Amino acid sequence: MSTPNNAFFESVMRNFDKAAPHTGLDKGLLHQIKVCNAVYQINFPVKMDDGAINVIESYRVQHSHHRLPTKGGIRYDNNVDQHEVMALASLMTYKCALVDVPFGGAKGGIKINPKAMSEGELERVTRRYTAELVRKNFIGPGIDVPAPDYGTSGREMAWIMDTYQTLKHGEIDAVACVTGKPVTQNGINGRVDATGRGVFYGLRRCFEYEEDMKKIGLTKGIKGKTMVVQGLGNVGSYTALISSVEGGVKVIGIAEYEGSIYDPNGIDIEKLLEFRRSTGSIVGFPGTTTLETRTSALELECDILVPAALENQITAENAPRIKAKVIAEAANGPVTADAEEILISKGILVIPDMYINAGGVTVSYFEWLKNLSHHRFGRMEKRFDQNQNERFAQLLEEMTGKKINELERNFLTQGADEVDLVRSGLEDTMISSYDQIRKEWISNSNGISMRTAAFVVALKKIGSDYATLGIFP
Ligand code: NAD
Repeated sequence: MSTPNNAFFESVMRNFDKAAPHTGLDKGLLHQIKVCNAVYQINFPVKMDDGAINVIESYRVQHSHHRLPTKGGIRYDNNVDQHEVMALASLMTYKCALVDVPFGGAKGGIKINPKAMSEGELERVTRRYTAELVRKNFIGPGIDVPAPDYGTSGREMAWIMDTYQTLKHGEIDAVACVTGKPVTQNGINGRVDATGRGVFYGLRRCFEYEEDMKKIGLTKGIKGKTMVVQGLGNVGSYTALISSVEGGVKVIGIAEYEGSIYDPNGIDIEKLLEFRRSTGSIVGFPGTTTLETRTSALELECDILVPAALENQITAENAPRIKAKVIAEAANGPVTADAEEILISKGILVIPDMYINAGGVTVSYFEWLKNLSHHRFGRMEKRFDQNQNERFAQLLEEMTGKKINELERNFLTQGADEVDLVRSGLEDTMISSYDQIRKEWISNSNGISMRTAAFVVALKKIGSDYATLGIFP
């Protein structure tokens, strides 16, 4: 039976197959890279608030053990099934390779509707799931490190860390068993907005190439471009916020579960988020027009469309009506393989998920490094740098006889905080990874898509890992 999740999994496999012939890798090795190395399904009981016992279906898939630990988020959603988690775990492997995060890919999923459960119920589900992972050795700082995904956040990650620490009492690196934790619970500054910020950095880089922009009828530079975002959750809200506030992008449309809205003059995202927090909906936000359906905003005329909700949102059915010039796949798998062919034939540039949403795993990697080093980035050098820079500023004043104004002095002398270092590492990662993909995309004489180019770059890196390591035993 074909289900939407099967279709998502098949899309990922199809995209892999398109790239494989361009890698020069051995057929058997490609097969090994393609398959999921370990799939674990757990059905466990949880006592609900009303005393009922519910059996919860859940998964953890480790797609590739070529590098350890494996890494990938945990999704809480009613549509979770094995195929969806396998597809997402596969994407994690290619994503990590692309952005040089030295992990294999993994993903977890629990088939629940978190919105219909109390906090206590969610805590019991999360802790029991973690205990089951510990039991089978499917979690640990050097084994498999989960993170947030759709339907989960720092709260769930803190429960996972606490459960793991309780069961693994005395393990010195225990807090590195999960990332995306709240900053007060061994998390890292800059993780919460990392995926959305990464989407912005990636888009900004893409728009810096004048010749690429010309080909799709756009001018160079992201400032002033129009954007539509689907899904105002973690990824979508930070993409919209950072793109508009830091990048000067005009966000003209938002699609959410409850409906979609439009304002050609640009929507104030900060105010919209506040409005949604207080009313529970984006619909009715002052100054905006409510569109016909939840998906109508996807079909608006705009420069950049950012699907940041779930997979299978742009399909062969609605692809012909999409009018964006660039699609940034902030969600995993929002454009199906069939839809992508239609979009490309219309001259639309699709920036693939495995690259554009890799900011989350990049900063998760920084968090893992912080946890293993047991100290905050910047703690040792911030004051030293500041004092040294201050001395340089004084010398400059003495030598030139001119006074540096306070604003410039602060800029020149500041030492880096953790968040500054995290953002600089993220920015550098998104820029250099884009350039690697683009090089493959532009130089490949077969006219491949940017997604195929991204796959080729990732597969070549994984292939070279295998070439160095060999196959055990
Ligand atoms: P989230 O739960 O924080 O937000 C998802 C949002 O999408 C919610 O506001 C929800 O109401 C909305 N939504 C759901 N169905 C919708 C529909 N049909 N139309 C419009 N809106 C809809 O989830 P998230 O963490 O932001 O993840 C979103 C996507 O990004 C997922 O595909 C996830 O795998 C991917 N992703 C997330 C991260 C991360 O760090 N959280 C990293 C990489 C990729």
